[in-house]
Amino acid sequence: MPSAVAPPPRELSTTPPPVEVPRALAPPPGLHLVPKVCCLCGVEDADPIGVGEDFEYRTSSDTFLAVRCRRCGLIYLNPQPADEEMGRIYPDHYHAFDFKPEEFGFVYRVRRRLEARRALKWCHDLPADARILDVGCGDGFHLRLLKEFGKPGWSLEGVDTDPRAVAHARAAGLTVHHGNIQELPLPADHYHLALMVMTVEHMTDPVGVLRTVRRVLKPGGKVVLVTDNAGSPDFWLFRGRHWGGYHFPRHPQLFTKSTLRKLADVSGFETERIVTPFSPVNWAYSVRNLLDDWGAPRWLVNRFTLKSTPAMAAFTLFDLPLSLVGCGAILRATFRKPAEETRGGA
Ligand SMILES: [Zn+2]
Repeated sequence: MPSAVAPPPRELSTTPPPVEVPRALAPPPGLHLVPKVCCLCGVEDADPIGVGEDFEYRTSSDTFLAVRCRRCGLIYLNPQPADEEMGRIYPDHYHAFDFKPEEFGFVYRVRRRLEARRALKWCHDLPADARILDVGCGDGFHLRLLKEFGKPGWSLEGVDTDPRAVAHARAAGLTVHHGNIQELPLPADHYHLALMVMTVEHMTDPVGVLRTVRRVLKPGGKVVLVTDNAGSPDFWLFRGRHWGGYHFPRHPQLFTKSTLRKLADVSGFETERIVTPFSPVNWAYSVRNLLDDWGAPRWLVNRFTLKSTPAMAAFTLFDLPLSLVGCGAILRATFRKPAEETRGGA
């Protein structure tokens, strides 16, 4: 009897049945994103400068917006992934956790020697019993270099927030504190040198971290900070979408020489020196992201990664002259905690 059957609700009668998307093809859901202000100025007064996706790990289907603060020039993501998304945007196969030296072969050996020379230079004026803290030490790459090539009396410690990285470093016999440095009970005025190598760009609160680093350093102690250069030619060429340094969405802030100086100021440090060493990495990943975005075949996309010796060699030769004229792809800053304690930074 037709009257016994209720007509379907209107929305069901006009909407086609949902299409079953196979699990493997369904895009990952969006991240929880939160609005941000410039961490150096404390206000939101910025222009859009780049839009992109997580080209490398595809941890979400989100589009991310990089903006440039009108007041100080800091580049930052707005909005940024919320704290609870860290486990997702840093998957288990993230290169810093899942690093297999044998896969990187020649590039790894060259990088290790180069980094050992660089790290020893940062430490050349330290006493024989110096205390060194690596903030964001990852799997302990630089601590292991200092242990192997540095003075035997040096005391080496690391800090990292990721349990997987900490487990790797501890397995190698290193002393690593697990957690956010701002919440760890580290002693004040204790360390001679702090290292922050390719970590500040990953931090959601770099000013808070640096103020804590300042607290734990001895008066006159230094921090050596290495980060991507958002004032370099590779940035200006690829800034609209594919720049490797964006590393969407894992680099919430990106610095230039002038914004690094401002970071030192607001954190209570004196800037001693800022230089621009060469690096092939952002050049290679900018090309990689562009090819990936344009749908190039995988074999070609994969020619432009850290694992590719020809790409690393070619872009090193390319960036070397740029670094000599102060436009290299990365920044290295030395900040000093004032020898005479002044109020306001800690
Ligand atoms: Zn600003």
